[in-house]
Amino acid sequence: MNASSGVSTPTAAPTAAPTATPTATPTAPPTAPLSTPAAAPDPAATVARLNAAFATGRTRPLAWRKTQLRALRSLLVEQEEVFAAALKADLGKSPTEAYLTEIGFTVNEIDHTLRHLARWLRPRRVPVPLALAPARARTVREPLGTVLVISPWNYPLQLALAPLVGALAAGNCAVVKPSELAPATSAALAHWLPRVLDPQAVAVVEGGVPETTALLEQRFDHVFYTGNGTVGRIVMTAAARHLTPVTLELGGKSPAVVEPGADLAAAARRIAWGKFMNAGQTCVAPDYVLAIGDAGPALEAELAAAVLEMYGDDPAASEDYGRIVNERHFDRLTALLADGRTVTGGGHDRAARYLAPTVLADVDPESPVMREEIFGPVLPIVRVPDLDAAIAFITARDKPLALYAFTASAQTRRRLTAETSSGALAFGIPNAHLSVPGLPFGGVGESGQGGYHGRLSVETFSHTKAVLSKPLALDTLRLAYPPFTAARTRLLRRFM
Ligand code: NAD
Repeated sequence: MNASSGVSTPTAAPTAAPTATPTATPTAPPTAPLSTPAAAPDPAATVARLNAAFATGRTRPLAWRKTQLRALRSLLVEQEEVFAAALKADLGKSPTEAYLTEIGFTVNEIDHTLRHLARWLRPRRVPVPLALAPARARTVREPLGTVLVISPWNYPLQLALAPLVGALAAGNCAVVKPSELAPATSAALAHWLPRVLDPQAVAVVEGGVPETTALLEQRFDHVFYTGNGTVGRIVMTAAARHLTPVTLELGGKSPAVVEPGADLAAAARRIAWGKFMNAGQTCVAPDYVLAIGDAGPALEAELAAAVLEMYGDDPAASEDYGRIVNERHFDRLTALLADGRTVTGGGHDRAARYLAPTVLADVDPESPVMREEIFGPVLPIVRVPDLDAAIAFITARDKPLALYAFTASAQTRRRLTAETSSGALAFGIPNAHLSVPGLPFGGVGESGQGGYHGRLSVETFSHTKAVLSKPLALDTLRLAYPPFTAARTRLLRRFM
């Protein structure tokens, strides 16, 4: 997609009946050209259109919500090759990785939501204090209205669709704004979503900064943003003008603590797997290793062996190794290569946007590679003398999106749990907490605010309304009405 952008509208509009939304048709071959988006309509008109659809109540029935989720699921299953090809074009993702981390991941999220949605939406009875009896209290989960989902380029399918699953499951209308830096995936989403989802309730707006800025001028009922903290601040500022709540899924430096007593070969394989997946362009990837005591030298050798085992002696030739998203990020990353002794990797090719899986040792904690989120296949190892020093290192910095630890010690696990703060904490495995639908996914402090996945997605995209109901027939409130005589006050105080 070039600078031209727009809200994609299906050529043949599906029927307006809420329960008759069509499902995906496996007609287009993977290489079929996608339709050119229509001329960009006014974002205000798009939001007004979705608001009007929301006001009709069409998105509220459970049946509508399930129909949307099933249609999205069918799309992902039937057009898997189309989306895998787009992810290959944008990021050089292998089809297996694309399935594991994007397409299949989203299908799992949909299945989990479909399985539990009716229960999650059920009103919850709440006990009423004696002073108010007889009365009934309950909470009712209501949709917010029209929400905006702004997604980044690194998992351009998953990070657009997983929030959308929550938005639809909660009964909202949604505008999806994919990242312009993953143009093939953006075009595929703009082409397909309005064809399979209710086009009165879902719009895809393609484009970059100007289009997103124009969208953010509109009043949404929730803004869900995934990306970097600088833009997160812009999003939050724009949303504040309308008092719109935001979810910010941001990034930062996620450490991997490694203790000498751990199985270092296994730890190295897990760290290499989490780090070099998607060529290191994963928000929850281990950003750097904190090697405690003498774990460092042994770990260096094990990491080099793990990279060799996974990607061969020429990772450039591996079908399973991705590419850097663009030249700007390539140049940023290659500038970091001098910040330590190269244990493995370091090779690069700007024309192919290839940067080898790279491990750096003897890294100065104050060097540039340790000052910014790396977000690429460069793994620095910083040595610290003991667990106290590791905890001090972590807590002196921004709260990470994830903290990983590879240790055989229960005491270390307990201390890291109690003495550090991060979006998530995982022992023995990086990245995988995302795929546990019952775990909240989100950051804290600089790594973000709010969360989603599974039930939390439905909570994020809905309002928990308090409903209290007291019969008028028996006016037990008489006691609370003025005038407050001494006798009434005495009784009231006893009831409270
Ligand atoms: P990006 O450049 O694709 O930007 C994200 C979105 O913000 C895009 O849709 C883009 O169009 C929009 N945008 C960019 N500049 C804008 C502006 N000035 N005003 C309004 N909108 C603007 O992606 P990115 O930010 O480079 O993504 C990488 C960052 O995201 C990393 O920090 C990474 O850790 C983080 N991330 C976090 C998660 C998570 O779930 N917590 C997931 C993926 C990435």
